[in-house]
Amino acid sequence: MTKNDQKRAPISRAEIDRRIIAAFLEEDDPALEEVVPGLSAADIRRRAVEIGLSRALVRDSRLSGDRLAMRACVRCDARFLSVGPQNRLCRACSRRDT
Ligand SMILES: [Zn+2]
Repeated sequence: MTKNDQKRAPISRAEIDRRIIAAFLEEDDPALEEVVPGLSAADIRRRAVEIGLSRALVRDSRLSGDRLAMRACVRCDARFLSVGPQNRLCRACSRRDT
C-alpha cells in the first residue's frame, strides 16, 4: 500500500475495532503497524486494551469458536466487545443484572 492509498479513505472507529479484533484472532503476534493505516502499533495496542481485548479472551474465542466482535448492547446501546452473538449485554449492564 502506498502513502496515497493510506490517506484516501478515513476509516471509521467501528472498522478500526473490527480490524484490530481480526488481527489478534488471526495471529498471536500480528504486525500491528499494518492493521490500520495511520495508527502505530502502540495506538493499536492501546485501543485493544480499551475495548477489553486480552490474550486470554482471544484464546478462549479460538477454542470455543465464538465470534469476538464489537456489538451494541441491547439495553444501553453502547458498543462493547462481545464474545459471541449470545453475548448482548455490555459489562456495565450485565453487572447491574447480578
Ligand atoms: Zn449496556
